[in-house]
Amino acid sequence: GERALVNVPEAIETVLALLQHKLGARIAVERDFAGRPEIRCTPALLNQVVMNILANAADAMPEGGTIRIGTRSTEETDEIRISDTGPGIPEPLREKIFEPFFTTKPVGSGTGLGLAIAYSVVQAHSGMLSVETAPGGGACFVIGIPRQAASA
Ligand code: ADP
Ligand code: MG
Repeated sequence: GERALVNVPEAIETVLALLQHKLGARIAVERDFAGRPEIRCTPALLNQVVMNILANAADAMPEGGTIRIGTRSTEETDEIRISDTGPGIPEPLREKIFEPFFTTKPVGSGTGLGLAIAYSVVQAHSGMLSVETAPGGGACFVIGIPRQAASA
């Protein structure tokens, strides 16, 4: 797809609106958009990546919780961080979750493709998709897009 300058906070709000029914009233969303607002990328693909990560966060918190979405930039990289207050991802699963068809969800409710797709989209932008432990033990997904490569 064609790359364009995408306003990240706006893209995130669009995805949050689409996921409203899934987040419901049980999940609070906190925003901290401290990074450069615009990155060069394929707009539909950024939406897809953020959508897949947010959908997983909602699935991880059936009883409710908080999703935190933040942006940060350094001279080299623009980062989008999405964390939740769910159970987190056990260390032995951290590599497997990015593999196609890996899922821990009941048959029929998860395809195991969301993170595999997200990973390859971020890679196509010369970026990195990784997972960390959020403060409190939840999952924190980090999308890092290098500014040089992204605008090449
Ligand atoms: P699916 O959602 O269809 O299972 P994904 O590729 O989106 O497939 O995710 C793969 C697996 O990674 C999930 O089944 C789950 O085990 C784990 N996972 C992803 N996001 C989270 C999260 N925020 N918290 C806990 N586990 C997660
Ligand atoms: Mg998923």
